[in-house]
Amino acid sequence: MSFLSPTALHTRTASRKEDITAHGARLFNVSPETFSNWRWQMKHQVQSAEECAGLLSLTGSEQEAFVALKEKFHAGITPYYVALMSAGDARCPVRVQALPVMEEQVDALGVADPLKEVTNSPVKEVVHVYEDRVAFCVAQLCPVYCRYCFRKRRDEEVGLHFNKTIVDAGIAYIASNSRIRDVLITGGDPLIANDATLENLLSRLRAIPHVEILRIGTRVPVTLPYRVTPELAKMLAKYHPIWVNTHFNCAEEITPEATAAVDTLLREGIPVGNQAVLLKGVNDTPERLKALVEGLVRIRARPYYIYQAQIVEGTGHLRVPVEKGLDLMRSLRGNTTGFAIPQYVLDTPFGKVPLSPNHVVGRQGDEVVVETNGGKLWGEPNPLGTYEPKRPLLDVPEERKPHVVRL
Ligand SMILES: *Cc1c(COP(=O)(O)O)cnc(C)c1O
Repeated sequence: MSFLSPTALHTRTASRKEDITAHGARLFNVSPETFSNWRWQMKHQVQSAEECAGLLSLTGSEQEAFVALKEKFHAGITPYYVALMSAGDARCPVRVQALPVMEEQVDALGVADPLKEVTNSPVKEVVHVYEDRVAFCVAQLCPVYCRYCFRKRRDEEVGLHFNKTIVDAGIAYIASNSRIRDVLITGGDPLIANDATLENLLSRLRAIPHVEILRIGTRVPVTLPYRVTPELAKMLAKYHPIWVNTHFNCAEEITPEATAAVDTLLREGIPVGNQAVLLKGVNDTPERLKALVEGLVRIRARPYYIYQAQIVEGTGHLRVPVEKGLDLMRSLRGNTTGFAIPQYVLDTPFGKVPLSPNHVVGRQGDEVVVETNGGKLWGEPNPLGTYEPKRPLLDVPEERKPHVVRL
C-alpha cells in the first residue's frame, strides 16, 4: 500500500500552497526568517527521540532505534526535513528515509563497504575507479543522515570534514594524474561547508589544467534548500563548467523551497541532475516513481540515475529485487516524457552497470525483433551484412515468430 493514493499524491505535489517554511516555523516555534537560516537548521538537527517530542509521534521501533543504534549509525535530521514528514504515519516516504528503525539491526546480506571504496582509493578519500574521473570525498557531515547511505560504515569516523591534510593530498593526487578530466566532489555533503571553504577547494581544482569538469554531489536542495543562496550559486559559477547532481527520492520532497534551490543553481548556468535510489516504500511503485520523475522535470532537474540500493549493512529493509526495478523501468517507458526516465544502474567495485529492461527479442535472419511497450513484437529490417558482432543476438524463439508484426 502506498502512503498516498496516486491522485492524492499528484494533487498534493502539484498544488500545495503552504510552504514548508511557514509550517516548519510554526512547528519549531521560531520565525520564518530563523527557520530559513541554514546555519540555524544545522545547529538544530534533530538527533534523538526526545527532540522529536511534539513534532512526530514515533513508533516503538523508531523510539528504540534512536537509542539502540546511537553508537553505530548516526541519526540527524534538519528541522526542514522533519517539517516535511507526516507526523502520524510511519510509512511516510520522507520518514522512512531519515528516521532510524530497529530493522537496521537485522541485515543478513549487508556488508560495510560493498563498493570496496577503501581498496579503490589510492589516497585517502579519492575513489579512483574510472581512468578519467574520480570521486573526491571531502565532506563527512550531512544535513540529514539517510538510513540507506552507502557510506553508512563511516558514521563512527570523526575529524574528516574538509580535513586540510586529506584535501591537500587529494588535490596533489589529482594534479599529478593528467588523465583525470572529471572530478566529482562529494562526501558527506560538500555544500554544508561555508562559501569560502568551498571556493578554496574549487579554485585549486580549477587551477589544474587537465581537470575539465567539476561536479558536486549534494542533497542540500532536498534536505536543506536554504543553503542554496544566490551568493553560493554565483560563487560556484565562477568555476564553470560545473555540474550539480542532487538526490530527490520522492515527489513529497519537491517543495517550493526545493524548487527555488534548483532554480537558483540553474539561473547561474549550473545544470542540475538527479540521482535517486530505488527504495522500498519510498519510490517502488509505478505511481510513485512516475510522480517523482515528472516532478523533477517540472522543476528542470533532469533524472540521471536511479540506483539499485547497495548491500550496505543495516539497509536490508529498504532494498528491492532487481526484477522489480526492471518492471518499474518498463512501466515508465512510453508512459512519460523520454527525458524524465533515468538510467537504472547497479554500482559495483568495477564501476556502474546499467540494468536495462531488455526489449530486444532476438534476430531472425535479416530482421531484429523487438518488443514494444504495448507488448507487440516488431520486426525491423536490419541485415547484419559482413559485420561480426561481439555479442550475437539470440534467435527469436519459434513460438514467438508467428506474432511478429512488420511494415
Ligand atoms: C559514480 C562514480 C563516478 C561517476 O560516474 P558517472 O557514470 O560518470 O556519473 C566516478 N567515480 C566513482 C568512483 C563513482 O562511483
